[in-house]
Amino acid sequence: MTDSTGRRPYIAANWKMNKTASEADEFLDAFLPTQSADGPEVALCPTFLALARVAERCAGTPVKAAAQNMYFEDSGAFTGEVSAPMLLDIGVDGVILGHSERRQNFGETDEALAQKVRRAIEAGLQPILCCGETEAERESDDTDAVLSHQVITDLAEVHTDDLDKVVIAYEPIWAIGTGKTASLEQAQEAIHFIRNLLRSRDPEGAQRVRILYGGSVKPGNAAELMAQPDIDGALVGGASLDPEDFGGIVSAASGA
Ligand code: PEP
Repeated sequence: MTDSTGRRPYIAANWKMNKTASEADEFLDAFLPTQSADGPEVALCPTFLALARVAERCAGTPVKAAAQNMYFEDSGAFTGEVSAPMLLDIGVDGVILGHSERRQNFGETDEALAQKVRRAIEAGLQPILCCGETEAERESDDTDAVLSHQVITDLAEVHTDDLDKVVIAYEPIWAIGTGKTASLEQAQEAIHFIRNLLRSRDPEGAQRVRILYGGSVKPGNAAELMAQPDIDGALVGGASLDPEDFGGIVSAASGA
């Protein structure tokens, strides 16, 4: 399905450091039978340890498997890291890059992200690039400056023709896991601003880029968020852990 903008809605589940491989299996038992190929694009992003299991069970279904991070080198002395070819080898389709928890807790930099986004695209993995401001940055009117810096730097090494291979997730940090959702106006305004940044690089390509909202999305608020003209889906944390709640969000996107 595509919506009136011609963009296919995209809903991704960020399980963060939750669910063992057996718990992922239980989720898949309940969730996979409810999904059809004519709905939005749906991706599940488990931990690395559950990723092979999820990718194997999603193969041949409309649901995709994506990682929560990767390194930009393919192999070598990088203890604790995982590369694009390793993800592809187990049937993974995409990768979340630059989640605010990685930026804040694990020192992820925009310079490293620029290389990760480039490598993911070269390798054929779909990057889901996260960006967003803190509460203090919003209060001091720095939201646009923060988004510009993150989006421009992180996409600097992406060839203009490849811009539409990136999915962007706007996630105001103050709305992640807090129960505080950005208002419809705040979410639409920030995502419209991001689309305009992309337009300055490629006016036509920018129309095709899917830009998601993330931050306390639930079945009850998903439809109104996704009805905003520039919002093409959601990156979902807490509510993605329950197959019924996540299925409700996917259904809400089907009507977008
Ligand atoms: C996230 O971690 O990407 C997220 C949006 O979390 P939550 O839905 O729990 O706010």
